[in-house]
Amino acid sequence: MSTENNTNQLFDNSIKILTDLIAFKTISGEDNNSLINYCDEILKNLGATSFRTFDGEKKRVNLFATLKAKQPSNKKPIILSGHTDVVPVSKGWSTDPFKATVKNDKLFGRGACDMKGFIACTLAFAPVYSKANLDRDIHFSYTFDEETACIGAPILIEELKKRGVKEGICIIGEPTNMKIIDAHKGCYEYTTYFEGLAGHSSAPHKGVSAVEYAARYVNKLIELREKLKERVPKDSIFDPPYSTLQIGGIFGGIAHNVIADKCHVNWETRPVIKEDGIFLNSELDKYANEILLPDMKKVFPNSSIRKNIIGEVVGFDRDKKSYACELVSNLTGDNAREVVSFGTEAGLFQEIGISTVVCGPGSIEQAHKIDEFIILDELKKCLNLLEGIKNNSIVS
Ligand SMILES: [Zn+2]
Repeated sequence: MSTENNTNQLFDNSIKILTDLIAFKTISGEDNNSLINYCDEILKNLGATSFRTFDGEKKRVNLFATLKAKQPSNKKPIILSGHTDVVPVSKGWSTDPFKATVKNDKLFGRGACDMKGFIACTLAFAPVYSKANLDRDIHFSYTFDEETACIGAPILIEELKKRGVKEGICIIGEPTNMKIIDAHKGCYEYTTYFEGLAGHSSAPHKGVSAVEYAARYVNKLIELREKLKERVPKDSIFDPPYSTLQIGGIFGGIAHNVIADKCHVNWETRPVIKEDGIFLNSELDKYANEILLPDMKKVFPNSSIRKNIIGEVVGFDRDKKSYACELVSNLTGDNAREVVSFGTEAGLFQEIGISTVVCGPGSIEQAHKIDEFIILDELKKCLNLLEGIKNNSIVS
């Protein structure tokens, strides 16, 4: 079989697998067992070993599968990583979002670029790895619930730590048009709940207005936002260069003349350095626990302020001597390094010492949108990268 035929076959297979993957409705928060079984079976049939990690109810699953080196060397293992969940669909699609539809040079479907396209390429390419005389392990990491707040990946990372995996090269195939992304800010989301005491507005001293304490809390957040600007690291590579903070919503109260007993505030911060997240939270918690809460309790001892962490996706820091970036650069010939404004699982892998790069097929422009698509040529580029990885991972 000629090389060209091989390439065509890999490409056709990646489209076939992508079509299958899109048909699994793996919206964040929902059961992804069938999709994981599908991936596991393909890899097991090729001789891979695998393990799974779960959420509390085993409704959602991470898969970590390995094609072992046939001639182990001291080369770092490679992890090909993608999330299996997709964002929900809204009305207005021109095609069925869960049925892959090819039109001209594009394939439409929820998850086509974010990021089942990458997963499909890795599965289509896996038979080549399994036949090759690999001198390092190739891992396939498929996680759940990245889109909500990277809920699945930390569970997998814990297990990797337990198993002593602490080095390697990880490629996260988020849609970057195959460009190298080597940093992004963190993304921390919170909801803070205030509970006071309801009462008639004509006697404010007999109630505790959750809305008013929430307002003071929001003011503190705005004040701390200015402090974050002052803390801007000198060599920041981000735009804006400092950690940002945003109040996404305040919800509370039932009527003009009723003291509100409940209120909650949705807010988020995007730290450029981890220390900013720690600084912000400790200042804020101190203010809530030492100033606001004692004041509320003077009138109503059962008052409460509860900060609920929706997710704390750690930032991904630029590493000037990144093995992962170097490997991808050598294979694609593209030496550029870019930063992005969206969060990924990259920082989680980086935290345990794995050299990580974000690079994958498709564009983030089409992610999370109606009529999400991937340009088919992007899948070919991704398969080329996987081919390069193979050539880099065989005994020469
Ligand atoms: Zn994604």
